[in-house]
Amino acid sequence: MTARPLFSLFSSDLAIDLGTANTLIYVSGRGIVLDEPSIVAINRNNGEIQAVGREAKEILGRAPGDIAAVKPIKDGVISDFKLTERMLSHFIQTAHKRKMMVRPRVVISVPSEITPVEKRAAWESARRAKASEVHLVEQAVVAALGVGLPITEPQGSMVVDIGGGTTDIAVISLSGAVYSRSVRVAGNAMDDAIIEHMKRKHNLLIGERTAEQVKMGIGSAYPLANPINMDVKGRDLIRGIPSTVTVQDGEIRECLAECVATIVNAIRLALERTPPELSADISDRGIVMTGGGSLLKNLDTRVRTETGLPVSIADEPLTSVVMGTAKMLDDFKLLRRASIN
Ligand code: ADP
Ligand code: MG
Repeated sequence: MTARPLFSLFSSDLAIDLGTANTLIYVSGRGIVLDEPSIVAINRNNGEIQAVGREAKEILGRAPGDIAAVKPIKDGVISDFKLTERMLSHFIQTAHKRKMMVRPRVVISVPSEITPVEKRAAWESARRAKASEVHLVEQAVVAALGVGLPITEPQGSMVVDIGGGTTDIAVISLSGAVYSRSVRVAGNAMDDAIIEHMKRKHNLLIGERTAEQVKMGIGSAYPLANPINMDVKGRDLIRGIPSTVTVQDGEIRECLAECVATIVNAIRLALERTPPELSADISDRGIVMTGGGSLLKNLDTRVRTETGLPVSIADEPLTSVVMGTAKMLDDFKLLRRASIN
């Protein structure tokens, strides 16, 4: 019994948020030490890894033909688990470059709808990076914990985590998910909708990174108080030369409408499926949104108008999952209950 706290004092345990867009690593006693895009650049000819994380994202859309920037975790599922394993090992080594006295314990939060094969991949990669113990926990549960919801109480809390690949909606009570559902529409789908819109309406070909910048800059889910616009650079599809087009917030809102509606409908469905007692808790306390996608302008207003419930956005939407995962490192009882190994 007494061995554990003493042991923890000398090891630097890791909490990892393996997200579809971003991977974050927290080291106990040090805080968040790594925050990088979940992207790997590989050489198509020999399968060698060219770059990982931020460096690989820089390459996205700019690399010569034989280098491919791959997102190994697509739509919340590990679409390429060998590559995920290599990416994770790389990140763990980067985070843990300091010499350690003891092999670390690692808690990884994984998408809710992960398959046994994918679980194994996450588990194996941590073991290979010399972890002494590996625990997998559900992202929905730690997201709720990370945004400060009282998840251990017999009270219903609803958390909506809008990431890159998926929107995960969960109702948590007594440290478990009473309801959870993942829809494969989130930030990436919004980027794709913007690429499509620019092509169709403006004959302008733009890359994923530009689309993301447009979304963050002028994208919205509900009319803005003051209209905004943005100059977007791409390639003119007719003339085949670089070109700049000025786009308005209204047209971007329109092209994002379908994605936003899917997210809103999934929230509505979750509310319908929630047991009545917990439903009452949620109508009192409202919905908490987190994940990078929750930062889309006026998305909270939109969800509030459509559900009639109070809606808030987490203080730190991009780090709530890793911080929730980190809380598991200090609470062994909670970890044991939430572990889905
Ligand atoms: P994941 O957990 O899947 O890795 P994140 O929670 O890190 O995802 O969120 C990443 C997503 O959030 C990306 O699609 C990104 O474009 C989007 N995002 C980040 N900031 C904003 C913003 N200000 N407005 C709209 N979307 C944003
Ligand atoms: Mg996430």
